Amino acid sequence: MRDDSPNSWEARADAHSFYGFTDLPSIAERGTVVLTHGEGPYVFDVHGRKFLDANSGLWNMVAGFDHKGMAEAAKAQYDRFPGYHAFFGRMSDQTVMLSEKLIDVSPFERGKVFYTNSGSEANDTLVKMLWFLGGAEGKPERRKILTRKNGYHGVTAVSASMTGKPYNDVFGLPLPGFIHLTCPHYWREGRDGESEAEFTARMGSELEEVIAREGADTIAAFVAEPVMGAGGVIPPSEGYFQTVAPILKKHGIPLVADEVITGFGRTGSDWGCQAYDFMPDAIISSKNLTAGYFPMGAVILGPEMSDRLQAAVDEIEEFPHGFTASGHPVGCAVALKAIEVIMDGSDGAAPLIDNVRALTPKFEAEMARLAQHPHIGEARGKGLMGALEAVKDKATKTPFDGSLSVSERIANTCTDHGLICRPLGQAVVLCPAFIMTEPQMDEMFQKLEAALNRVFEDVV
Ligand SMILES: *Cc1c(COP(=O)(O)O)cnc(C)c1O
Repeated sequence: MRDDSPNSWEARADAHSFYGFTDLPSIAERGTVVLTHGEGPYVFDVHGRKFLDANSGLWNMVAGFDHKGMAEAAKAQYDRFPGYHAFFGRMSDQTVMLSEKLIDVSPFERGKVFYTNSGSEANDTLVKMLWFLGGAEGKPERRKILTRKNGYHGVTAVSASMTGKPYNDVFGLPLPGFIHLTCPHYWREGRDGESEAEFTARMGSELEEVIAREGADTIAAFVAEPVMGAGGVIPPSEGYFQTVAPILKKHGIPLVADEVITGFGRTGSDWGCQAYDFMPDAIISSKNLTAGYFPMGAVILGPEMSDRLQAAVDEIEEFPHGFTASGHPVGCAVALKAIEVIMDGSDGAAPLIDNVRALTPKFEAEMARLAQHPHIGEARGKGLMGALEAVKDKATKTPFDGSLSVSERIANTCTDHGLICRPLGQAVVLCPAFIMTEPQMDEMFQKLEAALNRVFEDVV
């Protein structure tokens, strides 16, 4: 399949582009898939191959790859005012309008927004806000950040430190003061004979112990994805947030929801915190915020956090932070359009979140069907995000030998069949676009099932 002629797209990609988060042996064998354009949930490559993208790009292209309204909103704003910053007492009208809208659609009755170019930078910005707040409130030692193993919060030095994945060892991360609690994945982390309720209670006890050990006064926040995304689509155990939220509250530790994936409808609720019925003190947003049509992230502070930060900032008359493109007018115009398309409906079309809700029962039924397979240990998810975990032995939950690269093989076989899905550990992740139709969903599951059967035949 790889075109090895010296001027092929594959060879040119290898020659001058450095790959991130890419399995290099797969690329060496198969070649990079070089894409040119998309239609709905499909993407096309330089060889004219067509793929159904079961991951909506990287969780974010929820309105598909050729949404006219989104592209027109960007074009109109490029024509009107193609770029500006938000420093020195200036900001674009689009930025003002987006912040109003974000607070309006957020779970907060009031609050304030700060913009970045990515989810990683939004988490970095949050941590700087917390550190600034510690200093301003006479608690400079209040700097530690609690997150969970398998949590994904980004790749900058600080957000990678928040991320609870072992691959950051190669960078000498996490930095000191970033503490990773147990992943609340009952199926994998639950002990023999432990009920789900007991498991959740144990997660609460662990949090209490860590707070006691470290000292509540040294902890700046607890940051958690409502459903872990890049950690393998892991919904929390039953009652998890109802257990940790009161503990955090008792110790005065803010609870921050990293809603970069779960925000704007992915779970079927507007926000993941609503799907799991808890109220965070702040929300991190990116990805769906612009439906992937512009790089943008946001820190959304609820009432108490925004009041405290405002008071601290007033004290020194400035918050010395911001990116050149924070609150970029095109990004803000695109985000305003994305929110309209997803939450309100636009140009006569129903809100995309309605389609998420309509498709979820079918998605869940198909996942449950594939979970019957003797080598699928668990099917899990929420709304239109799901994962199937491959196992060698279903009864003992024993994984396949890592050297077999089972999930990579499944994903590569899917690619051969015209379906893009993502391997994550030993799981395969599905995160379809909100515009997907039922026939497209059938196509997705048929191709996936064929690939699963093929690969399990080869490896068992
Ligand atoms: C993707 C992601 C991030 C990082 O966003 P980038 O835009 O890639 O920097 C942070 N948190 C979560 C939950 C994410 O899924």
